[in-house]
Amino acid sequence: MSPTPLILKSFLKKFKKSKKSNFEIDFKKIDINLISINAIKTIDILEENGFEAYLVGGAVRDLLFGIKPKDFDVVTNATPDQIHHLFRRSRMIGRRFKLVHVIYGREIIEVSTYRSLQKEIAQPDRFIVIDDNHYGTIEDDAMRRDFTINAMFYSPTHQKLVDFHDGLNDLNRGIIRIIGNPEKRYQEDPIRILRAFRVCAKLNMSLNDTSREPIKKIVPLLHNIPHSRLFDEVIKFFLTGHALDSYRIMQNENIYTQFFLASLIDSKETNLFIENGLKNTDFRINNDKSCNPSFLFSFLLWHQVYPLWNQYKHELKHSIAALNQAIDEIIEKQIKLFPIHKRFTITMKEIWRLQPRFENQSPKKKYRLLLHPRFRAAYDFMLLRCESNQLDTKIGEWWTTFIDADNHEKSLMVKKLTLK
Ligand code: ATP
Ligand code: MG
Repeated sequence: MSPTPLILKSFLKKFKKSKKSNFEIDFKKIDINLISINAIKTIDILEENGFEAYLVGGAVRDLLFGIKPKDFDVVTNATPDQIHHLFRRSRMIGRRFKLVHVIYGREIIEVSTYRSLQKEIAQPDRFIVIDDNHYGTIEDDAMRRDFTINAMFYSPTHQKLVDFHDGLNDLNRGIIRIIGNPEKRYQEDPIRILRAFRVCAKLNMSLNDTSREPIKKIVPLLHNIPHSRLFDEVIKFFLTGHALDSYRIMQNENIYTQFFLASLIDSKETNLFIENGLKNTDFRINNDKSCNPSFLFSFLLWHQVYPLWNQYKHELKHSIAALNQAIDEIIEKQIKLFPIHKRFTITMKEIWRLQPRFENQSPKKKYRLLLHPRFRAAYDFMLLRCESNQLDTKIGEWWTTFIDADNHEKSLMVKKLTLK
């Protein structure tokens, strides 16, 4: 895929002619249909009341790419109180820096006031206090954002793009460039490392050299971030429709193993297994189907569990006990590296523990397995194993037919098994 969307290519030719001031560009090429009507309404109301208002951040970036943004952020020179006052269905959020959520049924438009860059304030006792609680100008607001492509403002009313950091040019060249001093900006908030790689995966772009250079040094700081924030960011790599590209980038950039135990067997089959799992995940997300993180974690970590299971099978001479021991050991190790919440590990364990049951020939147990609450996930997981030649494909085919069969056909199928 070329990183240069067509609308940009044609636009850039006319760029010089239509450039109004240094940072404002007439921009009629954004497909208005991709913009949420509620975001437009929000901007209209702010403007009708004498305020400036723009779409900002990832929404503008995605619109320039011709992609429908998943959420819309609006910035304005109105204060949170003023914003809240204008929208009956809105709520103020945030403790230090207040912003407003304007609620339209299930859609929320986040509206924030232009904000200035964090400042480090030295205290008399030599402590540094980070002060990120100041309103600012639109230019300040651009400055505090992470990457040039995420720091553009778009006015649907005036069809105007405001671009202080040459984001449009970077977007056109497929480059992610951090704003300001890279090392300082990653230190300020190391999550930006993950955000950078995630945008690379999502839009098939690459980091420029200066933005890449300090990353190795800063990566260990990632673990100082509150776990829930880090967890949400890691999950976004995999559950936003570009899991396979994210996985490849995380591997290439040596950040995957910061979060997940690496597979113990590095083989074609392992890669096929994980890649198929990721492709399925992308397919589901891109077709608006739900994806449970437990399923994702269970296939990412399976090639830790599986070889250990085989090893313990020999040692313990009991397959189920061996599997349980392998599972417990791996979960414990994984949790030390990067905790996964119990509500996910419970399901992961179930998916793994059900695997041997697909091979059990007892008719009664076949029916019982079908009724298990985790049957569907375990079945999908078993199919992945078949697809990567870890399990006889006939087992997968048998179960696929069995699921769809009516009662009579089902009983014939299990009878056939007992005759074998
Ligand atoms: P997407 O929503 O597609 O995941 P996004 O860039 O819109 O990507 P959001 O989390 O919605 O991500 O953030 C909206 C905008 O807020 C960003 O585009 C960026 O301008 C700014 N932003 C978000 N997180 C940070 C951060 N850690 N540091 C600086 N700016 C940030
Ligand atoms: Mg966004």
